[in-house]
Amino acid sequence: MPHILIVEDEAAIADTLIFALQGEGFTTTWLSLGAAALEHQRMTPADLIILDIGLPDISGFETCKQLRRFSEVPVMFLSARDGEIDRIVGLEIGADDYVVKPFSPREVAARVRAILKRMAPRGVNESSSAVFQVDIDRVQISYRGQPLGLTRHEFRLLQCLLEQPERVFSREQLLDALGVAADAGYERSIDSHIKSLRAKLRLVAASAEPIQTHRGLGYSYSPGNS
Ligand code: CA
Repeated sequence: MPHILIVEDEAAIADTLIFALQGEGFTTTWLSLGAAALEHQRMTPADLIILDIGLPDISGFETCKQLRRFSEVPVMFLSARDGEIDRIVGLEIGADDYVVKPFSPREVAARVRAILKRMAPRGVNESSSAVFQVDIDRVQISYRGQPLGLTRHEFRLLQCLLEQPERVFSREQLLDALGVAADAGYERSIDSHIKSLRAKLRLVAASAEPIQTHRGLGYSYSPGNS
């Protein structure tokens, strides 16, 4: 059972989350301080962290920043105000999703499930003969046996494409895979991430073109060109 760490100082909100998540079969731990959450994650890593932004000790932003020094665990922010969303998106703070209070606990549980599904390793990429090998735990993808030095966003993009070979993903869908809101004017940043991703792939195989561009549509992974 995936274990979810809830970091929220309001007991009533934490209670509704615990109830909804346990109803979906998740196990939960509830803490109300950022520092305690960091300590907990070091000792007993959860599979996903739900992190309130307004905490009594250090903010959720700061907690996430410190967390990212040692963990790539998925983080979903709880935000009290719409204005805080801009910071989450704008700072690329390493969040996988966010919800604004008041939220539906059932929707949060559904999104948690979606994030964990996105992170789950797929059998097709585990085969040792595969051109691409995805190591979820180490946030590492190897191409033709060579580990790629990918940024977090490049990793997510490539992982998303590899999961469904030949499927054409729109920029909006890829933004979704990154956990970035599609209306944030970020679509063009997908192109720059793809560009740097391709440059890294070419260092391994100069003439292969595993990521295909579909004009006006988006991108796909083509195993035949790998
Ligand atoms: Ca709070």
